[in-house]
Amino acid sequence: MKRVRVRFAPSPTGYLHVGNARTALFNWLFARQQDGVFILRVEDTDVERSTAEYDRKLMEDLRWLGLDWDEGPDVGGEYGPYRQSQRLDLYRAHAEKLLKEDKAYPCFCSPEELEQERQKALDAGQTPVYSGKCRGISREKSTRRVASGEKAAIRLRTPSEGIISFHDLVRGTLQFDLSLIGDPILVRSNGLPAYNYAVVVDDFLMAITHVIRGEDHIQNTPRQILTFQALGFDPPVFAHLSMVMGKDNTRLSKRHGATAVDQFDKDGILPSALFNYLVLLGWASPDGREVLTKDELIGLFRLEKVSRSSAIFDYDKLAWINRQHIKTLPSHTKAEYAFPHLKTAGLLPEEMTPLHWEWLAKAVDALVEKADRFAELPALFSILFDFFLLNMDEDAKEILKESCSLEVIRSFSDKIARVENFDYQVFGLMTKEIKEDTGCKGKDLYHPLRVALTAKASGLELDKFIPVVEEGAKLAFPRLIKSCAQRVSETLAFIDR
Ligand code: GLU
Repeated sequence: MKRVRVRFAPSPTGYLHVGNARTALFNWLFARQQDGVFILRVEDTDVERSTAEYDRKLMEDLRWLGLDWDEGPDVGGEYGPYRQSQRLDLYRAHAEKLLKEDKAYPCFCSPEELEQERQKALDAGQTPVYSGKCRGISREKSTRRVASGEKAAIRLRTPSEGIISFHDLVRGTLQFDLSLIGDPILVRSNGLPAYNYAVVVDDFLMAITHVIRGEDHIQNTPRQILTFQALGFDPPVFAHLSMVMGKDNTRLSKRHGATAVDQFDKDGILPSALFNYLVLLGWASPDGREVLTKDELIGLFRLEKVSRSSAIFDYDKLAWINRQHIKTLPSHTKAEYAFPHLKTAGLLPEEMTPLHWEWLAKAVDALVEKADRFAELPALFSILFDFFLLNMDEDAKEILKESCSLEVIRSFSDKIARVENFDYQVFGLMTKEIKEDTGCKGKDLYHPLRVALTAKASGLELDKFIPVVEEGAKLAFPRLIKSCAQRVSETLAFIDR
């Protein structure tokens, strides 16, 4: 059996987004599980819209997502070059061959003429098909016209009737009416190859065995098969993936919020979580598990099991998967992911000492449980950095009005002022003493203690809060963290005011 060779062929005309990232992932998974080769090919023949920045960013985003390629523009390979703009000679040579064999012909129709023809067909409610006007021009005549400098595109000569069919791994057997296809352009009059042509030359010369791509290319496939046949090449196996839709069942676009891979990174979605979630768009694991690692996905993924129906992109589901992936990370890794978010929010110093990192790991561990994404952390960290008695929420104010509260806080303040190293264990002993001193217990005891420490009625559990605040209070931050003793004494002064 031939070794599997698949390619991801983005055009550098925009950022990597949910739809094409999923196409890349399915190709990559298939290659890895079949012990095949995954190729990155950059389709940059649209010179007006392609940019070097998109080209660079596409590769950066693919790598961020955890993909690597065995052959590609930056890593090279035996079948290069891997940018279409560097393969123009190859397209030219194959077009010459087709012209020589009379399988293709020069077309002198101007864009205006073709547009008029197209519009006419559309107005009459018909599918626009090239009229075949230049098909009949004799070789001698067209050679003369080209030699005299007349601009010409090159078109493939295709049968004007009959059926062309192919078997699609996802969609089964598909049939197309040749009378609705017309002779496709191979090379434009400006000398640049058309997508449908360049892709065929490349897929053949790069020995691609399976073309896995979006369903939006399905109408192109019969044209590409006709081109493969004209060139005398065997076409690869095709698998067309359904489109990704937004929750409102329209094709996913910026309107639906974040769709660019780069934006998920900024939101604090882990690459492993996005990877996991994208694979679930159109595929499900046989045992129904949804939280899966890359290695598990390589083992379980089956191209033939990919669904024909369109997949719905659901950010909330992605966020949930992200939360599950965050849980599996070691503390120091969580701290590294959290760092840029907290730093941008102005909470962390320029220079982090080892003690800062140690503290950050503990703080993130305590607070990230309440987050779906790392971008939510700055708001959650407010419980450590902000202690605003004046902005106290209503529930907290109510608690302070309770009969036990003043006495409890006063007793707490006395005790905490006298200890040198306050920690959760000391807090435990203190609460017993406060209970004895005041006769207050249960929520009458614990609620005012929480308000005195956090200025809030609810939030992080105190066994997590106290150590993080106490250790944080000893470190330098752009905005200092108040110690527990300071908080309690401020609360008392606030009540007494
Ligand atoms: N450059 C095309 C695209 O980005 C590639 C399609 C294909 O895989 O053939 O849509």
